[in-house]
Amino acid sequence: MKFKLLLIFPFVANSCFAQLKLDFISFDFLKAKSNQIIVLNERIDSLNTVINNERDNHNQLKYELNSSLETLNQELLEIKKILKNYQDSIEDLNKTLQEKLNPAINSTIKDGFIDSMPADKWSEMDVFKENWSNTNLFPYVYSKNNKIPSSLNIRLFEQDTGFAIPFKGNVFSGFGMRRGRMHKGLDIKLQRHDTVKACMSGIVRFANYNSGGFGNIIIIRHLNGLETYYAHLQKMVVKPNDIVHAGDFIGTGGTTGTKRTGPHLHFECRWKDYPLDPRLFIDYTDFELKSDTLLINPKVLRAKPTPTRKKYYTIKSGDTLYGLAIRYNTSVSLLCQLNGLRKTSTLRINQRIRIK
Ligand SMILES: [Zn+2]
Repeated sequence: MKFKLLLIFPFVANSCFAQLKLDFISFDFLKAKSNQIIVLNERIDSLNTVINNERDNHNQLKYELNSSLETLNQELLEIKKILKNYQDSIEDLNKTLQEKLNPAINSTIKDGFIDSMPADKWSEMDVFKENWSNTNLFPYVYSKNNKIPSSLNIRLFEQDTGFAIPFKGNVFSGFGMRRGRMHKGLDIKLQRHDTVKACMSGIVRFANYNSGGFGNIIIIRHLNGLETYYAHLQKMVVKPNDIVHAGDFIGTGGTTGTKRTGPHLHFECRWKDYPLDPRLFIDYTDFELKSDTLLINPKVLRAKPTPTRKKYYTIKSGDTLYGLAIRYNTSVSLLCQLNGLRKTSTLRINQRIRIK
């Protein structure tokens, strides 16, 4: 944007010289002005040069910045690619790990046979996840997982896990009806502070005082799915989620929870809350295991678990099967099964739904 004042100078000068009346003073004046204009033009020229230089510099800088930005973007893309590769590798590794781990876990109890598996991995087994509770004595009562199998042969003894008699004492009251009530275990005579042992390996599911009559009671879930109950203990030396091996000292005999009877061990064996007679597999005369396996069927589990008390709920606005399942600690599929619904069924307001 050059503005050449010089262009108007000849015009001004010519018109000045053309006038004969022009006197010396005015000529001097014009000459001074034209000199000023020349100086100004020179300044403008130099300023223009400066501006042009600055613009060039600016453009150069802009170009450099743009190319740096492009380089950075390319580097970012490279980093993203590397990251993606890492993520893919991690995913692959996880998959391989799962494949390597899962068959081991899943095959741990296959057809009732227990494969050797390190004890610190036991808690990953399905048997120690299903209806696992450190607070409920009978966690399967309201569960859909407590269906009685028509015939299931389970393994009692393994080289790794072994078997031990909980306490070698006289059984003075056996499994069955007693004074009009079902006695769901064996009462084994012992002295206070006698050592009580875990009969098979597994994980302690419950170890607490129970005011309902058991007193201090330890419940161990075993690798084969059976649970054994040790009640009226004086002292408990294991706590929930402890890993125990067959023959481990778990507590001492006592009288907690008993009223009239003297010190004894109330010993129960249950399969998913269904009590069964421990003498089906333990010979309490010779104190030895009768058989390496135990057949579970409806006849063996003759005593029924605590019956499910039916519970209903009336649908209100905004209720969903999913929400109800969470609120009542059950599952959508169980709710559907109880009510003949589909998972996609629409609930009507005031509809009566069976929860349990
Ligand atoms: Zn008893």
